[in-house]
Amino acid sequence: MILRARTLVPVTAPPLEDGAVLILDGRIVAAGRWADVRPHASGPVTDLGDSLLMPGFVNAHCHLDYTDLAGQLAPSRNFTEWLKSIHAAKSAWGFSEYAASWLTGARQLLESGTTTVANIESVPELLGVCRAATPLRVWSFFELTALRPKVSPMHLVEAAAQLLQSSEPGRGGLGLSPHAPYSTTPDLLTATGRAAIEHRWPVTVHVAESEAEFEMFMYRRGPMYDWLSSQRPMDDCGLGSPVRALERSGLLNRSLLAVHVNRLWHDDARLLGERGASVVHCPQSHAYFHHPRFPRPELEATGTLLCLGTDSLASTHRPRDPRPRLSMFDEIRALAQTDALLEPQRILEMATVNGARALGQAGQLGELVPGAWADLTSFPFAGSPDAAVEAILHHEGLVTGTMIGGEWVSGRGSIPDSSPADAIS
Ligand SMILES: [Zn+2]
Repeated sequence: MILRARTLVPVTAPPLEDGAVLILDGRIVAAGRWADVRPHASGPVTDLGDSLLMPGFVNAHCHLDYTDLAGQLAPSRNFTEWLKSIHAAKSAWGFSEYAASWLTGARQLLESGTTTVANIESVPELLGVCRAATPLRVWSFFELTALRPKVSPMHLVEAAAQLLQSSEPGRGGLGLSPHAPYSTTPDLLTATGRAAIEHRWPVTVHVAESEAEFEMFMYRRGPMYDWLSSQRPMDDCGLGSPVRALERSGLLNRSLLAVHVNRLWHDDARLLGERGASVVHCPQSHAYFHHPRFPRPELEATGTLLCLGTDSLASTHRPRDPRPRLSMFDEIRALAQTDALLEPQRILEMATVNGARALGQAGQLGELVPGAWADLTSFPFAGSPDAAVEAILHHEGLVTGTMIGGEWVSGRGSIPDSSPADAIS
């Protein structure tokens, strides 16, 4: 199969005019100019016409199961109070609400051009049902939260690993997610790190998200410290920053996707860069909580790989939009608006190839190169290649087609015209 489009954006190569992607057995064989790809190809051609064709987004942080909580929780500058309110909202839900919410989120991502998502699985029972019910490439990170574990952390992690391995394989991968340093214990973090190495799984953790978390770990004070001091041992507080808590537990390494990382202490950025950890920024969730400024320049200066995620719709507030949807387009637009110094190409990389690299999928996902999975998306575009990346940053709404592993999973491109007569030899 060949896809042809007016503009091709491979991400790791400059955008080009009259592009084509040759696909065989779900993978990309060639991506380049139509005139160069055509002589080496046979099979049906789908001409997408005046469209921009690019890799599907890699959403590096999401909670699909909270999608239907959209708009239910008022934005709050008090992160600790918000945590209490989401716990209350979740306790009113049963399995069917969570499952419906998870699948709605997956559909919204496909319709807005995301082909891979790193998803936090807080309801393990969903793994057996939801992964099989979506074509989306889902990296399922089993969420572990334990303030005073009744069983040993090692047993908790082993049980999680067993459940993950018995779940529907799906198209993505598996991982572990201790929720955050404040909602777990050092022993649980250490046990997670060991299990992840054993299984060769990535790990993702919310860390250094709020001022309250920073105060708790640095100074043994503040609203989070007061809230949790009767619920968990606090021996790990007063020893340094939240990032340092991960370092002490052996979690800072190339397999880590550290989520949020808004509050750094002294050489935290250097430490993250040296250990090869990735950081995931979620622009709309960040704005919702009025978190401290995202230290993008400091992290970038240390070579830390920066990725983008949607987080959940429970932490999204759009006053003029009563029905917000999960969309990476909305995240990149929000980032471009708040970080005017960041080049559009860097933003595009954060939303695609960087997330793929963070998941250990370099060369497989997030870019149009030979050997990668044919995970693509397209939307109408009739401008010049010079304007293509800006067009991605400004696109609003749905896409016209999303393909995963060489199959259309949402829409079929802008022109539903597959013409064997146009086949080439
Ligand atoms: Zn999150």
